[in-house]
Amino acid sequence: MMDPAERKMRFVYAIRSKGVTDARVLGALEKIDRGAFVRGIFAERAYEDMPLPIACGQTISQPSVVGLMTQALEVSPRDKVLEVGTGSGYQAAVLSLLARRVYTVERHRRLVREARAVFEALDLVNITAVTADGSHGLPDQAPFDRILLTAAAEDPPSPLLAQLRIGGIMVLPVGQSDTVQSLIRVRRTEDGLDYEELRPVRFVPLIEGLGQE
Ligand code: SAH
Repeated sequence: MMDPAERKMRFVYAIRSKGVTDARVLGALEKIDRGAFVRGIFAERAYEDMPLPIACGQTISQPSVVGLMTQALEVSPRDKVLEVGTGSGYQAAVLSLLARRVYTVERHRRLVREARAVFEALDLVNITAVTADGSHGLPDQAPFDRILLTAAAEDPPSPLLAQLRIGGIMVLPVGQSDTVQSLIRVRRTEDGLDYEELRPVRFVPLIEGLGQE
């Protein structure tokens, strides 16, 4: 068994080799223990650069993809961030080290419950996890400086675009599920919205309504 320091060094190195170069993002990935967000037989693979199954038939994203999305979001310390698709809570935890406040929304209440327990255990006090259909955003807390979706929609949901502050950035995968999706970045300017296509990705679909458990 590798010692934890070497394991962590290799973990960060693998992520860096996939194009994550932002020092703050790499620092956050180094600090947040991915092993805390993966259970059972998959826990031992937490430090490999691959997606892994979590409860409710969902997945925790590949760490290099978490890094690339976080980097693309250009988060600064004063930002209020909305994440749609809490899943394991790993992405929200990484964001919480870079932002002022993170709201994360998930349609499965079980995942929200489990993620909250991990946030508490890691003493991440600036994250609020909410059970809701994130395609409607979080109108009570809007506007947001940054919005990140970790589930793929066919198009950027318009309620989310409406909840993005001027100067704000939204990063999301778009496309049909099970085909190639594109990670896109949307910037809200004074004049409207600028779209940029970043890279091909593959995410679970954004599904309307609440989950069964
Ligand atoms: N960010 C997660 C990975 C999430 S996988 C992590 O770091 O582990 C995508 C998640 O989006 C799944 O948990 C899925 O249940 C959730 N999801 C899908 N559609 C949703 C919706 N409309 N509202 C909120 N969450 C949704």
